[in-house]
Amino acid sequence: MSKVPRELFIPPNLRDYAYVDTPLPIGYGQTISAPHMVALMTEALDPREGDKVLEVGTGSGYQAAILAEIVGDSGHVYTIEIVKELVEFARENLRRAGYLNRVTVIHGDGTLGYEAEAPYDRIIVTAAAPEIPKPLIDQLKPGGRLVIPVGDLYIQYLTIVTKDLNNNIKVERDTPCVFVPLIGKYGWRGVKDII
Ligand code: SAH
Repeated sequence: MSKVPRELFIPPNLRDYAYVDTPLPIGYGQTISAPHMVALMTEALDPREGDKVLEVGTGSGYQAAILAEIVGDSGHVYTIEIVKELVEFARENLRRAGYLNRVTVIHGDGTLGYEAEAPYDRIIVTAAAPEIPKPLIDQLKPGGRLVIPVGDLYIQYLTIVTKDLNNNIKVERDTPCVFVPLIGKYGWRGVKDII
């Protein structure tokens, strides 16, 4: 995290707050997660050099850059964002920070995963899910790990899903957290009417 300049992932008017440990608005009702939450999720995910990682919820691209720093040139990060404008924002941020060679930003519904590059060593979801989307479990490699906040719209628990070499699934509930809602097929539907 000390290598990735967080200020490059924040709208210009809020750059003075780049190193305050808080989420910040990035437009379209979305936020860049607080640094402590990025650290906590990255530790829970336990990515390794050379890993192929899928992120759902690109937002600013900051979490993707942290993952790119860890997986290195022998790995790759695929990250999916549902808001078209944020896809452009994240791409531009990642380009300026020098990570676009290790990160592919895709516009789409990440609750469906990204079949084209599956399976993945690691999958991270950075929005609040009502349940664990089945496609994400299916797209995890044996020996893989998925980290996702699961709960209601107001509070969630970081949930760690592991798939062993015999394809057995283990689900563990970790730290409480608060994320913006995951929408899409396996996310919250009609969420704009609820919040
Ligand atoms: N990881 C981001 C923060 C993510 S905020 C960062 O480092 O800045 C959560 C993001 O998830 C929002 O940008 C929101 O638009 C996106 N999102 C919500 N539902 C989604 C879905 N089904 N597929 C892809 N992205 C989704």
